[in-house]
Amino acid sequence: VKKDYDLLIIGGGPAGLGAAINAASEGLSTCLIDSGPELGGQARWSSLIENYGGFPDGISGTDLMGNFIKQAGKFSTELMCPQKATSIREDGDHRIVITDDDDELAARMVIITAGLSYKRLDAKNLGQFMGRGVQYGAPTSDPKSLGTCDICVVGGANSAGQAAMHLSSNPDANVRLLIRKGIEVQMSDYLVQRIRATPNIIVCEGVEVTEVSGKNSLEEVTLKSTQDGTIETIPAHHLFIFIGASPKTQWLNGTVVTDERKFILTGSRLPSGLWTLQRPPLGFETCLPGVFCAGDVRLGSTKRIASAVGEGSVAVQMCHDYARMQAQG
Ligand SMILES: Cc1cc2nc3c(=O)[nH]c(=O)nc-3n(C[C@H](O)[C@H](O)[C@H](O)COP(=O)(O)OP(=O)(O)OC[C@H]3O[C@@H](n4cnc5c(N)ncnc54)[C@H](O)[C@@H]3O)c2cc1C
Repeated sequence: VKKDYDLLIIGGGPAGLGAAINAASEGLSTCLIDSGPELGGQARWSSLIENYGGFPDGISGTDLMGNFIKQAGKFSTELMCPQKATSIREDGDHRIVITDDDDELAARMVIITAGLSYKRLDAKNLGQFMGRGVQYGAPTSDPKSLGTCDICVVGGANSAGQAAMHLSSNPDANVRLLIRKGIEVQMSDYLVQRIRATPNIIVCEGVEVTEVSGKNSLEEVTLKSTQDGTIETIPAHHLFIFIGASPKTQWLNGTVVTDERKFILTGSRLPSGLWTLQRPPLGFETCLPGVFCAGDVRLGSTKRIASAVGEGSVAVQMCHDYARMQAQG
């Protein structure tokens, strides 16, 4: 075993960093690992976060998560990135996490905050144009720097709506929001109203992207109607993809129980046959005692930054409860 901590956190998004700030400030020796390439999780990809308290004018994901990283560092959390957890096992009072560098990290308690990963868009030639007009997630540069252009945003949930709004702040951009179903199905009402009131956003419902094309960079996107199969090709210099995500739990290889969509089960959601102790599991405890879970990867979590941060801090409280119970025998 290479190193030994009170608490090991797997995942450096809002839930993991929120947990780290709380744990380290309360005196737990804390290590956080993230598979990278950078800390901050999905939140880093948000162009403008307007629903996180304390920032009435909104804040970019990069700035918000930059503050979290700074604050976690201030309380002496050991931050390791890139460092991917590849498995976890019990060893007496310790939980051992193996990383992709074959390091063994030991801790009395673990919080899994591994979050979600984007679903891939299945469109012809997409790989060829990655980084040459096509990207997953929100734009990282100022939309005005894109100049006069045609932009497509694919997806029907809030993240796609927010990106479309953000991109429309460039008055010289024609933004098309491409949605398979209807805009009202998944998007918050306030966002739908704003999008409808924005003159340079066109909402295209009932379409899917089947192909992308161009010479050196993206020039056109081919759409297929989900109703009658009609094909249409539209000009596009940029394509931003937001088509949903799945939990990052494959590395657990079944050691921690998940539901059929691979979200981690905790507390009262654990099937009784899979919980071995006499005491009931704590609220965010997984089927492995002393291993907790918080944020988007947890079944039943609200997929929001504030909720992830809150869950991270609650999970730390449960770690204290667990440590107390262990000390009492
Ligand atoms: C474009 C976009 C815009 C958004 N806008 C908003 C918004 O405005 N407001 C809002 O409230 N929410 C927003 N969200 C949702 C919000 O970002 C998420 O709910 C939040 O980031 C979840 O935090 P998390 O810590 O649970 O997981 P994540 O942010 O997904 O972080 C998980 C981290 O774990 C790491 N990891 C995964 N597996 C491993 C492993 N095996 N070993 C080590 N590390 C691992 C990942 O690299 C990642 O950094 C947005 C999401 C996106 C994608």
